[in-house]
Amino acid sequence: MHDDRTLVESRLKRVLDERIRPAVHPASVPLEVSVWTAPGEPVPVAEGLAAPRTPIAAGDAWGAPWGTSWITVTGTVPAEWAGRTVEALLDLGFDANMPGFQCEGLVYRPDGTPVKGLNPQNQWVRIAAPAAGGERVELHVEAASNPVILDYHPFLPTELGDRETAGSELQYKLARMDLAVFDETVWELVMDLEVLGELMAELPVEGARRWEVLRAVERALDTVDLQDVNGTAAAARAQLAGVLASPAAPSAHRISAVGHAHIDSAWLWPLRETVRKVARTTANMTALLEDEPDFVYTMSQAQQYAWIKEHRPEVYARVKKAVADGRFVPAGGMWVESDTNMPSSEAMARQFVHGKRFFLEEFGVENQEAWLPDTFGFTGGLPQIIRNAGSKWLLTQKISWSQVNRFPHHTFLWEGIDGTRIFTHFPPVDTYNCSMKGSEIAHAARNFKDKGVARHSIAPTGWGDGGGGTTREMVAKAARLRDLEGSATVRWERPADFFAKAQAEYPQPPVWVGELYLELHRATLTSQARTKQGNRRSENLLREAELWCATAALRTGLPYPYEELDRIWKTVLLHQFHDILPGSSIAWVHREAEATYAGLAAELERLIGRAQQALAGDAAGGRALVFNAAPHARAGVPAGGAAAAPDGGSGCSVTARAEGGFVLANGLLSVTVDGDGLVVSAVDLATGRETVAPGARANLLQLHPDFPNMWDAWDVDQFYRNTVTDLTAADSVAVVADTPDAAAVRVTRSFGASTAVQTLALHAGERRLDIDTEVDWHETEKFLKAAFPLDVHTERYAAETQFGHLYRPTHTNTSWEAAKFEACNHRFVHLDEPGWGVALVTASTYGHDVTRTVRDGDGGTTTTVRFSLLRAPRFPDPRTDQGLHRFRHALVPGAGIADAVREGYLISLPERTVTGSVDAVRPLVELDADALVVSAVKLADDGSGDLVVRVYEAHGGRARGRLGTSFPLAGAVPCDLLERPWDGTRGEVTADGDGVTLALRPFELVTLRLTPASPAS
Ligand SMILES: [Zn+2]
Repeated sequence: MHDDRTLVESRLKRVLDERIRPAVHPASVPLEVSVWTAPGEPVPVAEGLAAPRTPIAAGDAWGAPWGTSWITVTGTVPAEWAGRTVEALLDLGFDANMPGFQCEGLVYRPDGTPVKGLNPQNQWVRIAAPAAGGERVELHVEAASNPVILDYHPFLPTELGDRETAGSELQYKLARMDLAVFDETVWELVMDLEVLGELMAELPVEGARRWEVLRAVERALDTVDLQDVNGTAAAARAQLAGVLASPAAPSAHRISAVGHAHIDSAWLWPLRETVRKVARTTANMTALLEDEPDFVYTMSQAQQYAWIKEHRPEVYARVKKAVADGRFVPAGGMWVESDTNMPSSEAMARQFVHGKRFFLEEFGVENQEAWLPDTFGFTGGLPQIIRNAGSKWLLTQKISWSQVNRFPHHTFLWEGIDGTRIFTHFPPVDTYNCSMKGSEIAHAARNFKDKGVARHSIAPTGWGDGGGGTTREMVAKAARLRDLEGSATVRWERPADFFAKAQAEYPQPPVWVGELYLELHRATLTSQARTKQGNRRSENLLREAELWCATAALRTGLPYPYEELDRIWKTVLLHQFHDILPGSSIAWVHREAEATYAGLAAELERLIGRAQQALAGDAAGGRALVFNAAPHARAGVPAGGAAAAPDGGSGCSVTARAEGGFVLANGLLSVTVDGDGLVVSAVDLATGRETVAPGARANLLQLHPDFPNMWDAWDVDQFYRNTVTDLTAADSVAVVADTPDAAAVRVTRSFGASTAVQTLALHAGERRLDIDTEVDWHETEKFLKAAFPLDVHTERYAAETQFGHLYRPTHTNTSWEAAKFEACNHRFVHLDEPGWGVALVTASTYGHDVTRTVRDGDGGTTTTVRFSLLRAPRFPDPRTDQGLHRFRHALVPGAGIADAVREGYLISLPERTVTGSVDAVRPLVELDADALVVSAVKLADDGSGDLVVRVYEAHGGRARGRLGTSFPLAGAVPCDLLERPWDGTRGEVTADGDGVTLALRPFELVTLRLTPASPAS
């Protein structure tokens, strides 16, 4: 027969758009609308409900940026609607395409009970079904006029991202505010036609099924009377029943749909708005769970539950009930969906401790899956942390965003740096905002890389990012896709049920070893440097606070600050959310983060000071005591203890060079700084080995243009390297220290509108060139790097990550290696030839790159390491990173991996001198093997008084040693991260009266709960 396919398809589109969808609400009357605009920040519900209203009408403008308007609608259900289903349709002026990125509302009854959230895809509120007629309607909407930051012309700089700069121009026009009749039969017809129309478009044109669906659709359209859609919808549906009833093929892909709203805890909105976003979405979702018996919803991020518990207790009560029913599923077991590249070992562990503990205490639920759909890459340290938290699965879809290489699996075992393997799933639907469209379902089935050996995948379904969640339309579509010929099958399922099935059907999945690197968003390792430094400073101060407070508690009985540390940890964990720590949020978020970090630092300094003073004794004693929080002894001060301040060192010298510049020396290193203030030589005197590549100059600041094609704060595109300016001209190079204890020069440079002042120093007894950098940064769309060309020939280098380090190639043989042109380290980057190596250590710089160069003369290769100091993107924060920054780095010639580990800690944890009355403070625990490193010393969170010590093998080899305690030990038990007895520790752990013998495999971590026998002395 003749091919009329496109004719029928076009007909379907027009009739749906112009006739059938409008007939879902066939009759309506306008509601009376009035408004009160809150003068500043959001107000409590009672205040918003009670405030006086003024009239407003459809078409009127409302809502200054970030404002809150309390909108009241009143009306009466017409008598002639008796027996019909009646809904309020409340359109605040929505753009249908952008739920979560614009205005939103939460609807309340007059008594303050929340009803549901309003967003572009969810504008209805059920009034009565069936109506009696004559019902009085009164609803109140807490409407947030959040401005649009990211829209059809994305990434343009905007001042809307901070209340302080956003101005007062009204952002929205009130649209339809009606009472309307809801015709469920027409709505069901719309769902039938959408599902079949979308399925049809994915089916092969050569196949019979496509044509069977087409003919059924045509018959349904023939049956609809365009002048009486409501009267003929049921008959039209009958024409579709046959094709909808035809079952899926036995080999059909099986999709586990899980209701979801990936809500970013802050991003293009401030933290306080996320509190309300979560309340709106969860109100919608608990309502949908009541309406739809098969539906299952999952929400991650314990912090978001804690917010509703505190701010919207009525919504939280509904969540608790739905969790108890097993239909609202807490997922992920982390405090927030954090970044995983940058958080420290302990912080990454505590994300799970606080997340899982909250779910256990509030709901009695223990998660087995880590849920990180949107995080920008995953470190090789993470699998062991997941396992030690008592979890065993991981979900993310973000790697599908990689620019170059397609990941080869969707279901696989992910092996971390220590060998821990985690069963991991990437949803082949390639989105965490699935809306049950035919194209998404077909893509998931086609895209799934493990066909033939596995059949199941997961589809997180609902509006995310800015929230919204699953809609009744998505649920209706899922019901039709349950068992439909030509489609993958869809079932609502809990993540754990999916993982159990997926694991059972795929007993020997492929293995991926090492980090899951995201080939995108690489600049998130550098953007918003002050936020990153605030995070790193907080992590270090928390280590110190826990160590000294635990020591003071056991030694002096000083009360341990459980509540303060718990609260501070949760604040730090919140700010590791995957748009805060990565620097991709609006200016408001980063301005607040800097203030929050400053407050935490002050509070932690007080806790540390109080504990150290309790240990040091009366300051009137007049003895200077040096406290060392690092896990390695330094200058005679033991790790985790304190000792008398050492005498000044000796042996440093500064010599002026005839050709300009200076030679700094300390008996261990001889460092030559030329007249431009650049390091032309750094000789390790023990071996006579030169560190700097021949003819090159180290600590060279380099400036690149940096204007990525999109995602300004997130991305640096490879072409940035095509243009570079070496900042070689110095304003001054001057000696600032020339004493037996220190030799230092200061170099000042001006460039663009900015200045950089660097101090290069050698100290007595230290084989390390310290480099302190202060940049007053006023550039736009530039990338500042500090380059260290090193005379080391190597195929690979080590970069520190959580509980160890991983290796990356220094070459770009394949597209996978070439794509890693910007990568993450924690405290060090290390490279070596057999017997001799170099470390570059850093206090707060995460981004770096490593490249190879051919040596002049002999054709061998050298290796250049560059730290990424600063960027200046203009979206979403138009003034990102402007102003003063301070960095600390060090070059460590002759460093083995052990030196790299040690120096990384030392630069991060400077010693503190306290005046007291005692000679020394003995550490609570002492380790006798250099490779066994203490990650945390703290009191157990349960308040039992037990000491918790976390140790890991840091060199990448096997290590055996003894952890001695300076108090009588009643017992020692290996624990998981939540401090519960755990038999998952594979290394040897043997306790006796005054210590524990440990034998750990490479990078293994072990958490020990040590019970003191009696008060320690
Ligand atoms: Zn996100």
